[in-house]
Amino acid sequence: MDSIPHVIGGKETHGHSERRGEVWNPAKGERSAEVSFATVEDVGAAVAAAKAALPEWRRASLAKRTRVLFAFRELVENHKQDIARLLTLEHGKVLSDALGEVQRGLEVIEFACGIADLQKGQFSENVSTEVDAYSIRQAVGVVAGITPFNFPAMVPMWMYPIAIACGNTFVLKPSEKDPSASMYCAKLLQKAGLPDGVLNVVHGDKVAVDTILRHPDIGAVSFVGSTPIARYIYETGTAHGKRVQALGGAKNHMIVLPDADMDLAADAAVSAGYGSAGERCMAISVLVCVGGAADRLLPKIEERIANLKVGSGLDPASEMGPLITREHRDKVASYVGKGADEGAKVRVDGRTLRVKDHENGFFLGPCLIDDVTPAMSVYQDEIFGPVLSVVRVKTYDDAIGLVHGHRYANGVALFTNDGGAARKFQSEVEVGMVGVNVPIPVPMSYYSFGGWKQSLFGDLHIYGPDGVKFYTRTKSVITRWPDPRFRGVDLGFPQNK
Ligand code: NAD
Repeated sequence: MDSIPHVIGGKETHGHSERRGEVWNPAKGERSAEVSFATVEDVGAAVAAAKAALPEWRRASLAKRTRVLFAFRELVENHKQDIARLLTLEHGKVLSDALGEVQRGLEVIEFACGIADLQKGQFSENVSTEVDAYSIRQAVGVVAGITPFNFPAMVPMWMYPIAIACGNTFVLKPSEKDPSASMYCAKLLQKAGLPDGVLNVVHGDKVAVDTILRHPDIGAVSFVGSTPIARYIYETGTAHGKRVQALGGAKNHMIVLPDADMDLAADAAVSAGYGSAGERCMAISVLVCVGGAADRLLPKIEERIANLKVGSGLDPASEMGPLITREHRDKVASYVGKGADEGAKVRVDGRTLRVKDHENGFFLGPCLIDDVTPAMSVYQDEIFGPVLSVVRVKTYDDAIGLVHGHRYANGVALFTNDGGAARKFQSEVEVGMVGVNVPIPVPMSYYSFGGWKQSLFGDLHIYGPDGVKFYTRTKSVITRWPDPRFRGVDLGFPQNK
């Protein structure tokens, strides 16, 4: 069985640990590889390699850094089928979805290729006689990224392309459940000409993460994952003097007004509810039907669910693959039972699904639960699986009230044909990413991604302009090249003359 190593200072190593994690093929329900779990010393070695590579990389010209990124962009483009296949094998998502993931990551690399423009400072001439003032954006130093299982290529790409473009060196701790895409991309970056030590990859669990959070040589940490861990990362990292951005979980509502195009809304709810088996932080998990919308919308959703093909992600006919692990599949399935026990109506029950020739795979069919109320666990908790809960409300105000009452505020969508309602909604809704007739409003690479409330701990969103701000520190400089006429001691506070 393959054993997946770390990449430290450009070299593959299994480090010092006896401890290993298991990587599974979720469509088959079989173990496919094991992965070394980093010790405190292993993480220390990765940070030391990043620190050693820092002076030269920070000094590298913008032209050189840009060229590495352009070369990396080209390599990812040329190898995207291979990366997508790795994602399907370890995560389970269908190949077309995996390719979409690589594409969205590629867009962040393309954004980072513009670093020469993005990292510009400001300049003011003659702020006082013979005095000029300017600001420069400099790399933070050694920075780290800790990422979740559900986008094993894209989420790391939200981080390291921008961080290294800005002149930082990086330690990545990808999800231990599907680490191979990060290994593959680290090799592509090496081929693109990135000096050894600028990107290091360590695998592991809490031991590795805690070492990163406490390491005195790490200046900033980006995290994406579940809310309890995001809060812990933020609190521990900031307590150790680091800049931290920690993106957490979600419960995204899709509100459907009675005037909406119900076919468009049904397509959107099914795509955004069951795409990637609901394992997306921007998945729609609550459908809020206003007025009589439910009675017209739900039959259309049921029709579409009946035609969904669930199976191995490598089968081109499959539209939805398995969940990441057996434990996670069972946990998601248990929510369907809990919903029924708490009084909701299970309209479509995916728990009975069996996939031919993949009987041991971690599959769960799409589930649709009606008459859900805010007190129920299916409404309150992030389930992270193919379970769509329907809440029926009377008015638009009731719908907004629901959204505002929830602790998560990552994404939200409104489906309507009323421009006035849509405009009011986008202005007043207290959620970080908003879609109007768009169910998954993931910002372009040149905006930034992030939720509000318990979906984000920290001040800056991830990638885009906020990414450049996060990975740089501003220094302001004031210079004077005096004219001999202005010599002389002056003990007064500097005034602008
Ligand atoms: P997770 O929180 O379990 O793990 C994320 C990372 O934290 C992994 O690298 C993991 O090894 C590490 N980790 C896990 N437990 C830890 C602990 N006790 N101490 C220190 N580190 C620990 O998340 P996951 O299950 O891999 O991913 C799914 C979650 O990620 C969902 O909640 C989803 O909403 C969220 N997510 C959020 C976004 C976003 O942008 N807001 C994007 C993708 C995923």
